[in-house]
Amino acid sequence: MSQALVVLSGGQDSTTCLYWALQRFGVGQIEAVTFDYGQRHRRELDCAARVAARAGAPQTVLPINTFAALGGNALIDAGIPVQDGVNAQTRLPNTFVPGRNLIFLTFAAAFAYPRGIRHLVTGVAQTDYSGYPDCRQATLQTLEQALRLGMEYEITIHAPLMFKSKADTVRLASELGALPALADTHTCYNGVYPPCGECPSCQLRARGFAEAGLVDPLLALNVV
Ligand code: ZN
Repeated sequence: MSQALVVLSGGQDSTTCLYWALQRFGVGQIEAVTFDYGQRHRRELDCAARVAARAGAPQTVLPINTFAALGGNALIDAGIPVQDGVNAQTRLPNTFVPGRNLIFLTFAAAFAYPRGIRHLVTGVAQTDYSGYPDCRQATLQTLEQALRLGMEYEITIHAPLMFKSKADTVRLASELGALPALADTHTCYNGVYPPCGECPSCQLRARGFAEAGLVDPLLALNVV
C-alpha cells in the first residue's frame, strides 16, 4: 500500500515533488495521479507518463472532461491566446483555470481514501508565480480541513514548493537527483517542443535555472 499520492501534471514542479515524495516516503511508497482535463497541450500527459515511469511510480490517469465545457481560459480554450495576459475583470492571468487545483486535490483525496493513502503531494507554490489564488497556503490549509471533515479521514496535503522561488525549486530538484527527469517535463504555455522560450512560463523556468546556475536539461537536449 502506498503512503503518498503525488498529483503529477508532467511539469517541472510536480516532477520535483515526485522526487521529494520518493525521498520522504521511500521507493515503493508513492504513486502518482494525473488528470486529463482536456488540456490543449496533450504533451503534458506524455511527459507525466514518462516521469512516473522513470521514477518507478505507478501512475493513474483520471479523466475530468468538465473544464472544457466551462471554457474561458487559455489553457483549455483554443480561441484564447496565452500571451494576451491578464483578464481585465479578475486581474488574474488568462491561464487561470478557476478551481482547478481545488478540484484536482479533491479528486486526489477521493482516490486516496479507498486506498488508505493519507498524504497528498502537490507542486503548487505561492511565491514567484502568477498569483493563482488556489496555489496559496491558506487555500490548501482550508481545503485540507474540508477534506478531513468531509471524508472523516486524516489526510495531509504537502506542498513542498509553497514558499520556494523558482531558483530554489531548481536547486531542490538538483539535490533530489531529479534534474535528469526534468528533461521529460513540459512547461511551455504554447505547448510547442522545443519550448518557445518566450511565453511567461518558459521565461519563469529559464530565470529559475539561470539564478540557480544550472543548465535546464530540457534545453540541453536540444542543443546537442
Ligand atoms: Zn513557452
